[in-house]
Amino acid sequence: SQVLVCGGTGCTSSGSMDILTKFNVEIKKHGIENEIEVIRTGCFGLCELGPVVIVYPEGAFYSRVTVEDVEEIVAEHLVKGRVVTRLLYKESVEEGRIKSLNNVDFYKKQYRIALRNCGVIDPENIDEYIAFDGYKALAKVLTEMTPQQVIEVVKQSGLRGRGGGGFPTGLKWEFTAKSQADQKYVICNADEGDPGAFMDRSVLEGDPHSVLEAMAIAGYAIGASQGYIYVRAEYPIAVERLEVAIKQAREYGLLGKNIFGTDFSFDIEVRLGAGAFVCGEETALMNSIEGRRGMPRPKPPFPAQSGLWGKPTVINNVETYANIPPIFINGAEWFSSIGTEKSKGTKVFALGGKITNTGLVEVPMGITLREVIYEIGGGIPNGKKFKAVQTGGPSGGCITAEHLDTPIDYDTLTALGSMMGSGGMIVMDEDNCMVDVARFYLEFTQDESCGKCTPCRVGTKRLLEILEKITEGKGTEEDLVKLEELSYQIKNTALCGLGQTAPNPVLSTLKYFRDEYEAHVKEKR
Ligand code: SF4
Repeated sequence: SQVLVCGGTGCTSSGSMDILTKFNVEIKKHGIENEIEVIRTGCFGLCELGPVVIVYPEGAFYSRVTVEDVEEIVAEHLVKGRVVTRLLYKESVEEGRIKSLNNVDFYKKQYRIALRNCGVIDPENIDEYIAFDGYKALAKVLTEMTPQQVIEVVKQSGLRGRGGGGFPTGLKWEFTAKSQADQKYVICNADEGDPGAFMDRSVLEGDPHSVLEAMAIAGYAIGASQGYIYVRAEYPIAVERLEVAIKQAREYGLLGKNIFGTDFSFDIEVRLGAGAFVCGEETALMNSIEGRRGMPRPKPPFPAQSGLWGKPTVINNVETYANIPPIFINGAEWFSSIGTEKSKGTKVFALGGKITNTGLVEVPMGITLREVIYEIGGGIPNGKKFKAVQTGGPSGGCITAEHLDTPIDYDTLTALGSMMGSGGMIVMDEDNCMVDVARFYLEFTQDESCGKCTPCRVGTKRLLEILEKITEGKGTEEDLVKLEELSYQIKNTALCGLGQTAPNPVLSTLKYFRDEYEAHVKEKR
């Protein structure tokens, strides 16, 4: 038997490591340590039900497990073979029988590519990654393909950047490959900063080798020998697992000199971010790695021409990289057969807010918001009515009930005045005041503005002041006009993405919930 204990941040913070220790103690007590393997995995996705423990071969999904429950699971299930029914996640049981996870509502419509190994393997054991086809894509690329062929495969797959921009990954690699330079770099942007987002953290915690493998493939494709992973210091578990993974990959000769006996050499270092949201902007991130203040640079030049230390650089986010190895194992056609015409593959979303199943999901592009919120997410708790969902974090916008059946992809979300963003999805119910929601996001961006350009530094502050005036019931109709005008001015003149998108939550709530703004203004009259 195998006992899988979730070691993601959510379950760890609710005590899963004590549970893991207790399993080992109890298993030893019963003298069955040679028959049972206890594995700390990455996130299973259903964070709401944590700490989660899954016991195989039965696939018994135990939820909200406590240290006190472990004795019973070991004595009853592992020793006597009797599943502890009272602790099972109720959706995973049908007519007294345990369902396969593929038939549980939360997982049924999911398609796990980037998260394929999360909750499945021990992220601190390279052998487990290798057993699940790990480093097979890198071997194939290095021994059978030219760099140009590698780029062609990524282009044909249709993969677009999962960090929010949605730029075609293969094109980015091609531009960087074509730039001539004595040195090039590969960067992984793991500075996930949107409130409520934890997609990248979960991949790094659950499957760090997939990111290392993909970065090495990118290095080969563009002609780089050095990679950097820029990760927030607030993600200690992810940082630790990355360090362990890099060490193991070096020991196995999968990073370093002459990988797979070829003349390709590539190594990776981790750089820690100190918590500035703007450092998720690629040029600010590169400044930060260089040891400078994390402020954006004007573009052009783009990183493909002049990136880290002025050298051509490919920079992708964690989820984008996690998609790369399966593309080479299963083929570009396989990947491009999933999703919509212009958005291929899947997207990972962090579900939060007023939703029953808070957690991490990966779904094919083109799925509707209704399917994600009601079928996977279990709907709105306490019988409340759905009001809106915020996608794209502080750069995104709100989507209302009338658009619940819109298929999710990069272009449809933008057309609705929101954006895919990196994948935060925060659900709001009838009790949420949308003006407060806009103010929350603006407080965040205003606080995180680096101050380099006036439209963002001063503009977001003025915007926030107007919003505060309105929420305090002191606003006027004229303030609503000013709010809109100033929002467009900031959008059109700010230097980087942070400022250019900061007014989006205001504009989208004004568009769909103007009545709520007007109600605040009327309070004054
Ligand atoms: Fe800094 Fe804001 Fe200007 Fe970006 S838009 S450079 S965050 S002040």
